[in-house]
Amino acid sequence: MVVMGKSGAGKQPRIDVLVKEFGLVQLSTGNIFREYVGAFDRSGFKGDLERFYDAERDTFVPDDVIIGAIREQLGNVDDARSVMLGLKAKYFMNSGRFVPNSSTNELFAEYFSKGDYKGFVLDGYPRTPDQSSFLLDLCADKGTKVDLVLLVENEDELIIERTMGRRICKKCGKVYHVKFKPSKDGMNCDICNIPLIQRADDTEEKIRTRLAEYYDKAVPALAVLEKAGIPVARVPGNLPVFTDEAVRESVMIAISPYLKG
Ligand SMILES: [Zn+2]
Repeated sequence: MVVMGKSGAGKQPRIDVLVKEFGLVQLSTGNIFREYVGAFDRSGFKGDLERFYDAERDTFVPDDVIIGAIREQLGNVDDARSVMLGLKAKYFMNSGRFVPNSSTNELFAEYFSKGDYKGFVLDGYPRTPDQSSFLLDLCADKGTKVDLVLLVENEDELIIERTMGRRICKKCGKVYHVKFKPSKDGMNCDICNIPLIQRADDTEEKIRTRLAEYYDKAVPALAVLEKAGIPVARVPGNLPVFTDEAVRESVMIAISPYLKG
């Protein structure tokens, strides 16, 4: 399944429902990037990453060249391929450049293969029409498919309110909201008992930039999936009463027409 919606629409609680109800594994592009970058950082590889990027052709030098350089410096590392993928992700992180579809697709496909292309709920992917086409081709190629898109709908102004009030636990990653989903004492994580923080990305200007990107890229990405015949179930991101049970119920009602058996 794919969960889509504007950044801040309320995707995570719906993803939690799908994970719990269907035993799916959440596959988030953000986490994939962090994981490979982590593998790269832990490897201890040193040096200028620019030399692995062919600016003229706007692509990386061949994988075996990068892996060769990694082995030359680090010897026989356990997972040179993960380090190589992490190097690529790190390159874009460092340069502050927009990550091209080809690199996002590569990291996604690598991770997707680990679960034999099944049993995932995709989060943050596909995010462009190119990524949607890549996903459809990859699924067709591997004999699997996207069963459903769950679209979490929410109005821009509500999202701005929702996002600016968002607080997270930097230890366990649990997300709260000062108004809609406060922690028990309103300050600390219920699980870790450490102060909740506001992400640096959760400013109005950054939220509006992400909304613009959603209209520009994610909406056409969804259209590609819809045109390919994948059912789209819509759920409201804003509920009159926001409890785990209310979220679960709204998700299950929305997707029930598409469930088999
Ligand atoms: Zn926590």
